[in-house]
Amino acid sequence: MASILIVDDELVICKSCKKILEQTGHIVDYVLTGKEALKSVEEKKYEVIITDLKMPEINGMELLESVKKKRENVDVIMITGYATIETAVQAMKLGAYDYIPKPFTPEELRSVVSRVLEKRKVIEEERLAEERDLIRFEYTMPGDLYYLPEHAWVKIENSSLVRIGIDDVFIRSIGEIVEIKLPTKGKTLEQGKLCAEIKDMRGNIHKMWSPVSGEVLEINQDVIKDYSVVKIDPYGSGWFLRIIPSHLGEDLKNLIHGTPLVKWWLKKELIQGRKAKYVMAEGLDSNFKYEIARQPGGENITHCFQCGTCTASCPVRAIDERYNPRKIIRMALLGMKSRVLSSEFIWLCSSCYSCYERCPQDVRLTDVMTAISNIAVREGYIHPLYINSLEILKNHGRLYEVSEFDNKIRARSGLPSLQEDHETVKKILEITHVDTFIKRSKK
Ligand code: SF4
Ligand code: SF4
Repeated sequence: MASILIVDDELVICKSCKKILEQTGHIVDYVLTGKEALKSVEEKKYEVIITDLKMPEINGMELLESVKKKRENVDVIMITGYATIETAVQAMKLGAYDYIPKPFTPEELRSVVSRVLEKRKVIEEERLAEERDLIRFEYTMPGDLYYLPEHAWVKIENSSLVRIGIDDVFIRSIGEIVEIKLPTKGKTLEQGKLCAEIKDMRGNIHKMWSPVSGEVLEINQDVIKDYSVVKIDPYGSGWFLRIIPSHLGEDLKNLIHGTPLVKWWLKKELIQGRKAKYVMAEGLDSNFKYEIARQPGGENITHCFQCGTCTASCPVRAIDERYNPRKIIRMALLGMKSRVLSSEFIWLCSSCYSCYERCPQDVRLTDVMTAISNIAVREGYIHPLYINSLEILKNHGRLYEVSEFDNKIRARSGLPSLQEDHETVKKILEITHVDTFIKRSKK
C-alpha cells in the first residue's frame, strides 16, 4: 500500500486513476493543477506522484523539478500525450521514474506503479541491510554505455550499429520474468516509444521504451530461449536488440552517458541518506567472465544470480568475515579482472564443496574458484605463500628443508637419512613452466 498523488487538469483522468489504484489498496489523492500539487506535497508525504506533462501554469516538467528539490525520494511518473514523448524521455533524464503515454489501460497504470513500488522496496531493504552492515548491494552501470536512467541502455558498436537492453535497476524492480516480447527484425523503432514488453510472475506487463530510433537488425535469441540471461548479465549476453540507428546524434542528447550517470546516482543516493560507493567502469574487462567460462570448471559462472547462499555456507567465511565468495563472483562478472586476480581471497577457498551442492544455480563455485586461480597463475598473480613454498621446493627438492638434526633424529629411530634432490625437482619445475610462473609473479 502506498500513498499516491495524481495531478491532471482532466478530472476524468484523475478520477479513473484514483479508482484503478484504490482497487489495489493504495491511498490516492488527486489535484487538478501543479500549484495544488506543490501544496499537497508540502502537507503530506507521498511516495509516488503521477502527473500529466501538459498542464496550464505549472507543467509536469516544472512540477517534477520543484518536487525533486523539496523531496528527492518521491518517485514521479509522467502521463504524456503522443506529441510529448520526447519531453517525457528528457523528464527521465531529469529524474522522472517513467512515463505512461495516453491513452493507457488500467493494467498499464498498475504495472508501472507496481514496478516503482518494488524498486522503492528493494532500495529500502538495501538501506536497512546497510544500516545493519549485513550486506552491500551493487547496481551495475558500465561506463561506456548511454542510459535512459533506471530503464534502458545503448551500446554503440560502431557509427552504424548499436545494441540496446534494459538496465539493472529496471530488472530488479520486475522480479521473476515469465515472458519477454521483442519486436520483429526490420521493425522501425522510435526513441521513447514501445520497444519491448516484459511480463512478471504477477501478470504485470512492463513496457520498455526504446532508447534510440532506428531499424531492428537482430534479436538476441539467447534472451528468447532463456529469460534468466537478462538478470544474470544485463549489459552483456542479456542484450535485447541490435539496431541500425536513424538519428543517433540527436537521440544521445536525451540520454546520460555512463560516467555522468554514476555521479547522477551518487548524488541521488547521498540525498537519500545511503552510503554510496562506486567503481568506475573504465579499466573493467567485460570479457573476463567469458574467459573464466572457457576454463574447465568455470562454465557456469554467468548463472550466478547473487543469492549469497555460498557465502552463508562457507566455513572459511565463518573464520574470516572478509572472505566473500558471492562478492568474488560478482566482481568477476563485473569485469574487475585485475582486482580479482590480485586479491588474496581467491586463494582462501579450501575446496570443501559446501557451497557446491547448495548453490541453486549450479554455478559450481568450487570449480569456478579453481578456474580463477588458474587464470591468476597464468597472468603472474600467485599468492606469496605459494611462491615461498615453490622456492623451498625448488631449492631443497621438498617442501621443507632437511637439516642434519632431522637426519640424526631419523637415524635414532632407525630411519634412513633424507637426501635433497633439488636438481630433479628443478628440472620438473622447468619442464612444467612452474619456474616461469614464479619468476613472472615475483616481477
Ligand atoms: S550460491 Fe550460487 S547463485 Fe548464489 S551467490 Fe553463490 S554462486 Fe551465486
Ligand atoms: S568450496 Fe570454497 S567457497 Fe565454497 S564453501 Fe568451501 S571454502 Fe567456501
